[in-house]
Amino acid sequence: MRTKQALAAALLLFSLARGKGPGAAPAQAPALLPGGGPVAVGDIADMLLGADPGLGIEELAADPADPRFTPVAGRQVYSGRDAPSTWLRFSLRAEGAGDGDWILEVRPSFSIVLDEASLFLPEAGGGYAETKAGARLRARSGEMPSRYFLFELPASALSGAPCYLRLASATDVETRVFAWPVRTYARRALAEGAAYGLIYGVLAAMLLYNAFLFFALKDGSILRYIGFVAFAFLWTFFVQGHAKAIFGPRPGLDQAALWFFAGGMLAFGALFASAFLEMRRGSKAAHAALLALAALGAVAALAGAAGLDRAAFLVSHYLGLALPVLIVAAAALRLAQGFQAALYFLVAWACLVLGGLAFALMGLKALPVGFWTTNGVSIGLAAESVLLAVAIADRYRRLEREKLSLERREARYRELSLRDGLTGLYNKRHLETELRAEVARAAEGGTPLSAIFLDIDDFKAVNDSHGHALGDEMLAALAATVLASVRERDEAFRFGGEEFVVLMPGIRAADAFLAAERIRERFSRDSRRESGGATVSATVSLGVAELLAGESGEAFLRRADDAMYEAKRLGKDRTALDRA
Ligand code: GH3
Ligand code: MG
Ligand code: MG
Repeated sequence: MRTKQALAAALLLFSLARGKGPGAAPAQAPALLPGGGPVAVGDIADMLLGADPGLGIEELAADPADPRFTPVAGRQVYSGRDAPSTWLRFSLRAEGAGDGDWILEVRPSFSIVLDEASLFLPEAGGGYAETKAGARLRARSGEMPSRYFLFELPASALSGAPCYLRLASATDVETRVFAWPVRTYARRALAEGAAYGLIYGVLAAMLLYNAFLFFALKDGSILRYIGFVAFAFLWTFFVQGHAKAIFGPRPGLDQAALWFFAGGMLAFGALFASAFLEMRRGSKAAHAALLALAALGAVAALAGAAGLDRAAFLVSHYLGLALPVLIVAAAALRLAQGFQAALYFLVAWACLVLGGLAFALMGLKALPVGFWTTNGVSIGLAAESVLLAVAIADRYRRLEREKLSLERREARYRELSLRDGLTGLYNKRHLETELRAEVARAAEGGTPLSAIFLDIDDFKAVNDSHGHALGDEMLAALAATVLASVRERDEAFRFGGEEFVVLMPGIRAADAFLAAERIRERFSRDSRRESGGATVSATVSLGVAELLAGESGEAFLRRADDAMYEAKRLGKDRTALDRA
């Protein structure tokens, strides 16, 4: 701004030095429009703030030096509740400019809130011609589409004669006015359009991505996020004037849509925050506060839709200040409570807080209208929508990880409940389950199933003469020998005491007999222990049986047990085959 002011001042001195001062004498001399860039009319204009709404151009034109006008000189150019009608007076001079070479851009902080902007340009035959634009008016024929309000400046308006602009609105709105060479303006509008295309693209991508996520995960907090981003998209589309630029101004509807989407965005934002942060668990008070603000958002939305602009304006602006602050505080609280997923969420809202605060403070006239105050909230929203999507993904990653470790622990306990502590083999309870399953499978598939029943010989004597501890060692050694002697597919169980069972699916009795003999031979070696200076070892007796057609698991196992007793009877340390 300062360079533009300096430029305007230099041009002013230049034009005065050349003796081309204006004929009529407004308070400020006309600005000589430079070739390339825009001229901030606010820097060279006089203002009549809060004029009588009945004041007309005839009265003003009669006195081109009306002292009620004073230089803007850095003051805010606004109209609204306590200044329903504000006038600007300025003079422009562009040498050699033809009709349509220059345009006047009237740029309100909310383009669909400035009810009316009327430009009065001097006519060749004296008097003034009025051109009207504004959010409460339909577009005039030939009006250039824009987020803002554009007026073509004819050559007659660039001769240094005073021009007048009347700004009228019921809702507070600050307005900046620029004179642009058409070409420069078109280039700038294109660049601005591309930048907003990017912002809308990001918001749309996040909407689609989260719609997919919602269909996959069916989580209510994602639905609230989608509501928030959808309303943010539409609110941006209206508040930034893109709806007006594309579809033309639709008086009444535009304003209702603006407040409806603003309120809806705030309501969904509050609901999403309380769901995502699981606020009910973190703090009952913060949870209640978020729900209350969501309700206020809904009130603002409904008030806007009902045409109560003033109420919608106030509620949504104070909500726009309070909600992000509350959400950031709630997220910080949850983070402090150890809710790790709140981290990305906190960063995301911090982005919007900066843009949102700037925007709300601008709306309340505490901050000037500028690039960051008008566009900061849109940029903040786009950045936030991406970071929130990251936060959602991160939250799911954490939940998934917790679920997985829980499942693992459960599986381990389940496994432990099936096993015997001393030998690590499956226990008798599991044998019952497996025996039933294997018998059914064998019957169904017509495949063989064999069982080995083992019992350590004279184990009581081993315990009695060498101690229980050595007996335990031998039991563990037998378990290891059994596992090393059978296939992976076979299952070994501790039936009780020093009795073990092996189930061998797909194996005939003859092969089971060979496996049994392998166990017996190995165990006589593996069981060898030193005790009291002597070497002790043990032997096993084994019984083998193969499942008969239509036989029950119990009968089958009993035959293996009987065969084992037969081995004992025949002198122990041997395998007996059931010949049924
Ligand atoms: P047999 O050759 O007829 O099978 O003689 P046995 O002494 O092995 O017969 P019995 O079934 O009478 O004895 C089983 C013994 O096994 C009784 C008990 O001292 C021992 N025993 C059972 N469970 C355990 C255990 O968990 N640890 C130890 N160390 N010994 C056990
Ligand atoms: Mg026994
Ligand atoms: Mg025994």
